[in-house]
Amino acid sequence: MPRVVIVGCGFAGLNAARELAGAAVDVTLVDRNNFHTFQPLLYQVATAGLNPADVAHAARGIFHDAPNVVFRRAEVRGVDWDARALLLDSSSPLVFDYLVLAAGATTTFFGIPGADQCALPLYTLRDAVRLRNHVLAQFERADLVPEIIEDGALTFVIVGAGPTGVEVAGALVELFEMVLAKDFREVDVRRARVVLVEMADHVLGTFSPKSRDHARRTLESRGVEVRLGSVVKAVEPNRLVLDTGEHIPTQTVIWAAGVRANPLADLLGLAQERGGRITVEPGLSLPGRTFAFVVGDLAAARSPKGELYPQLAPVAIQSGRHAARQIRRLVEGRPTTPFRYKDKGIMATIGRRSAVAELPLGVKLSGTPAWMAWLGLHLVYLIGFRNRLSVLVNWAWNYLTYDRGPRVLFDEPPDSPGARG
Ligand SMILES: Cc1cc2nc3c(=O)[nH]c(=O)nc-3n(C[C@H](O)[C@H](O)[C@H](O)COP(=O)(O)OP(=O)(O)OC[C@H]3O[C@@H](n4cnc5c(N)ncnc54)[C@H](O)[C@@H]3O)c2cc1C
Repeated sequence: MPRVVIVGCGFAGLNAARELAGAAVDVTLVDRNNFHTFQPLLYQVATAGLNPADVAHAARGIFHDAPNVVFRRAEVRGVDWDARALLLDSSSPLVFDYLVLAAGATTTFFGIPGADQCALPLYTLRDAVRLRNHVLAQFERADLVPEIIEDGALTFVIVGAGPTGVEVAGALVELFEMVLAKDFREVDVRRARVVLVEMADHVLGTFSPKSRDHARRTLESRGVEVRLGSVVKAVEPNRLVLDTGEHIPTQTVIWAAGVRANPLADLLGLAQERGGRITVEPGLSLPGRTFAFVVGDLAAARSPKGELYPQLAPVAIQSGRHAARQIRRLVEGRPTTPFRYKDKGIMATIGRRSAVAELPLGVKLSGTPAWMAWLGLHLVYLIGFRNRLSVLVNWAWNYLTYDRGPRVLFDEPPDSPGARG
């Protein structure tokens, strides 16, 4: 049977593999982690709303009923195009007839001095746990030595007011007001600040002006300091420096400002576009290599009008499925078809009973209806019944009790192969 190798068990790779389950091909799904991460809920892990295991699902477990799909945990280092083999860190090359590259994206710091060393990104499950530890540790430190609040120990600056920045800001103020204020009776939690810094003159750049305004006003009414038109010049261990020369004393800079294609894209010797995304044909195959496809955040897939599709979960899901269907067609000797993204809309949650949603057919929601739509959609897209149930129980608990369960502060394990990305 033809051998298909898929790189990445994110939304795109996972859906490509699912689409090929039961087909007349042998599939090997490769990922550096042995789990799929549901990135849209990482911010809830970082703000003690959910447990890490609620937003991750063991990759092998997803394919128990698919005998033609196997999983291999390995770091991909490159592709030998002549030999049609995937180069791995820990085992011999993996030979393929068809290849799907779905390695996603990563955080970019735009070369801003100090950002890569001092800022905390939120891209992987490990990032989310590290951020949660850091936030809780800052409160523990302030409990022991209250004077450090003057130096910004409880000032949490988020850079970037896209959906991730807005969601983190909203969730942090709720965590402080509803939970940590009760936990830390000796700390004046009202002195904790959440500052959202954005260089544009609005939050949620991809949304309509009405939704942007709604989000900004809601954040401000909940105590977030929204700093629009503010450009970050440097990040230092104890302060954030703006291009106006102003300093914000802080020991916590959360980086939600930008993404770039996975570094693997730079190693493959392929044409790249904005943000390092790999150039693809309309059917998502590589130019001149009809046996290899690039999907999800890694691909520079374009609409018929030539616009780059956004780096969003629904695009990744649909493009992964599309590539898998093209492989089936090629195996059956049929011609391939172009990829067309069916727009599922965009959403961002701001906090308790508050969100904005812009859905197909011009439907725009805000407040509680948008929040309900957001909750429902995220539950539907989560992988695994157990994860859905656990998230639902946690959300119900948090909502009804104004509490957060998983605020366990544990020391990070030393770096090991088991603790990668
Ligand atoms: C914090 C956050 C919040 C988000 N919120 C939303 C949202 O609300 N709605 C929405 O639509 N989108 C959201 N997104 C975007 C969405 O998650 C991505 O568009 C989507 O995950 C892209 O899927 P993908 O499969 O291309 O990549 P990913 O999901 O990133 O998967 C890539 C996989 O490749 C693996 N990998 C990478 N490099 C290697 C390597 N060298 N070797 C082996 N394996 C490798 C990784 O471990 C990972 O499992 C969010 C993203 C983030 C980071």
